[in-house]
Amino acid sequence: MQTLIKKTDMKTFKSTFILSLIVLFTILAGCKKGSDESPINLFSSDDDIEFGQSMEAEIAANPQEFPLLDATAYPAAYDHLYRIRDSILNTGELYYEDKFEWKVYIIENDSMLNAFATPGGYMYFYTGIIKYLDNEAQFAGVMGHEMAHADLRHSTNQITKAYGIQIMISIILGEAPGQLTEILASYAYGLGTLAFSRDHEYEADAHSVQYLYKTSYDARGIADFFIKLGDSSRPPEFLSTHPSPDNRIEKIYEVWEGLGGKTGNTYVDSYNAFKASLP
Ligand SMILES: [Zn+2]
Repeated sequence: MQTLIKKTDMKTFKSTFILSLIVLFTILAGCKKGSDESPINLFSSDDDIEFGQSMEAEIAANPQEFPLLDATAYPAAYDHLYRIRDSILNTGELYYEDKFEWKVYIIENDSMLNAFATPGGYMYFYTGIIKYLDNEAQFAGVMGHEMAHADLRHSTNQITKAYGIQIMISIILGEAPGQLTEILASYAYGLGTLAFSRDHEYEADAHSVQYLYKTSYDARGIADFFIKLGDSSRPPEFLSTHPSPDNRIEKIYEVWEGLGGKTGNTYVDSYNAFKASLP
């Protein structure tokens, strides 16, 4: 009988303790600012960098799945990529402009219509998407969208939402010290399978417009890409990792109009030179 009471007390204590932890971490998570618009993130920006570096290493070690285009063999192609990236970085609009490395890679696969960025700002563009697009404003729009996912730390926000509180409780209770490592590893292996939320998509689109608005590019480049995708019969891999929310194109236009509705350049000639520099 006594044992039973003790057990019940212990159970109550444990539930109360866990509940307190949940409340505590919810408060902590709410206070920790990862960016101005997505405050819930239990990871630090250093975690994002470390996470990105390990994914960069995974990708480099897997040339069958990720045949990276050699930057020394194709310097012209990479120069175009660096030039476009730098025009976005130089807007001063990114929180982690100086902290993240913003490394860019081209993956040689003409049939993949996709691009992705790891946490910490390592960016990958398939030759498929580069060749599919018509002008540099569209490409810069896609790049701006990827940079926004990294700069706003959407991946670690997402992992926090999915596992954060649970991991923290397990780690504190000493029940699963290796769980965090496991989750991070499975995320790295299932690269791109963790789709962003619709809100993150809207946010990345809006930031792409904001970045490009401060360059000479037409800031609606990302909308042009989605319009083109809508007309296309090709299976868009991009949408498997970047789910398309409703009224996406309209929302992009709203942001652009809100900024003043300036028409920028599309740069067809320099983009054709970029495409011609690819194998
Ligand atoms: Zn996206």
